[in-house]
Amino acid sequence: MKIMKFGGTSVGRPERMVEISHLITQEDEPKIIVMSALSGTTNSLVEISDALSKSDRIGASEKIEKLKKHYEDFVTALYKSPEGKAAGAHILADHFEFLDVILKISYSESLNKDILAQGELLSTKIFSAYLNEIGVKHAWLPALEFMTIDAAGEPQVGSIRVKLAQVLRDHSDTRLFVTQGFICRNARGEVDNLKRGGSDYTASLIAAAVGASVCEIWTDIDGMHNNDPRIVQGTTPVRKLSFNEAAELAYFGAKILHPASIWPAQHYNFPVRLLNTMEPHAPGTVISSEASEEGVKAIAAKDAIIAVKIKSSRMLLAYGFLRKIFDVFEKYRTSIDMVTTSEVAVSLTIDSDTHLMEIVKELEMYGNITIDHGQTIICVVGNKIALAPNILIKIFDSLNDIPVRMVSFGGSRDNVSILVPGEYKEQALRQLHSGVFN
Ligand code: ADP
Ligand code: ASP
Ligand code: MG
Repeated sequence: MKIMKFGGTSVGRPERMVEISHLITQEDEPKIIVMSALSGTTNSLVEISDALSKSDRIGASEKIEKLKKHYEDFVTALYKSPEGKAAGAHILADHFEFLDVILKISYSESLNKDILAQGELLSTKIFSAYLNEIGVKHAWLPALEFMTIDAAGEPQVGSIRVKLAQVLRDHSDTRLFVTQGFICRNARGEVDNLKRGGSDYTASLIAAAVGASVCEIWTDIDGMHNNDPRIVQGTTPVRKLSFNEAAELAYFGAKILHPASIWPAQHYNFPVRLLNTMEPHAPGTVISSEASEEGVKAIAAKDAIIAVKIKSSRMLLAYGFLRKIFDVFEKYRTSIDMVTTSEVAVSLTIDSDTHLMEIVKELEMYGNITIDHGQTIICVVGNKIALAPNILIKIFDSLNDIPVRMVSFGGSRDNVSILVPGEYKEQALRQLHSGVFN
């Protein structure tokens, strides 16, 4: 069994869906196709939900109309037969009726999740109807019946495996399945999701659950590049990455992969391939347990980081001080990315301000607190880069004119992280690119 995940850009236009139908019918191996919403749809649904949360029903209604028009044009171009056109009209009627109903009911967090789920339901139903039109035998699988998260918001592969096996048993003569990325059910049985970009995570969880031979992530670029191609010119694809390298890059901002999508692959040991839907024969990137070549592989950046500094004279020779600080973050389920210490102060970074007020209030018991918002972590990743000749000289020479706020080196041999004010992000990425790779 192999898993093929197609992202929003890969299904954003009718002709792309047609191309995907060729890609997925090429070899005989059984496959589960995981599909995102059409590009731009989830953003539109977020806007609709935001408008409703502010009781702006006119705004929400206008946005729904615009989205509906987009989908009407899409299905008109996709289907050729009267049966296909009728199936498309039926799917749109169903989901846009739901979006019309929500204009009349009161807003809640659970309604928000229902709204966001429409994108993947629409794209997979539209694609499934297209496969029917061209006579490709397959089954549409409802992800809400098997993709679940527990009370802590974490998916458990064991329980996904049991539920998915049950769903697959109903189609024992089928070798091709189409299902939704991103959406799931939470411990209360409500519709939920795996956070933005979560279809990659769905694909990798399904690959773990069925013991897939490979998880293919099809997107709009030829694999993981060695820097953010939206910011830096002349980036090039990295052909091989280890799980650790890929996990660091995804976690520290490489948008091509959802940050959580590597752990299932690492734990259940299947390769992840990043491939380009627009150029299916390009080699892309293979992420596997094999150690890759030593040296710098890539640079990534994670935005909207908050730096917290706790300055305390009492820290002098005080054992147990760091535990007390970390306990506060644990209590508020806020994970820490970077830590640096000196004799009189600790600086650390977090990426969520959900409980910042409570955290600061409790930390004030231990010293003076300074908060810097809008920071960016720049992460230089590669197998044993800490041992690469002159790597620190190259990094610091490149950042010569940038006010570096924190540096983390030695946590692992595969990563050097630098915290800079957000406004220096682009400059830092570009200068590091030429300093480290040229
Ligand atoms: P999809 O819709 O297929 O999930 P995404 O937009 O989530 O696609 O991810 C692909 C995009 O990630 C690329 O178009 C590229 O602009 C961006 N990206 C950011 N950093 C990297 C990187 N290091 N390598 C490749 N792509 C990257
Ligand atoms: N459609 C969702 C999003 O835009 C999930 C995904 O594309 O991976 O975030
Ligand atoms: Mg994505």
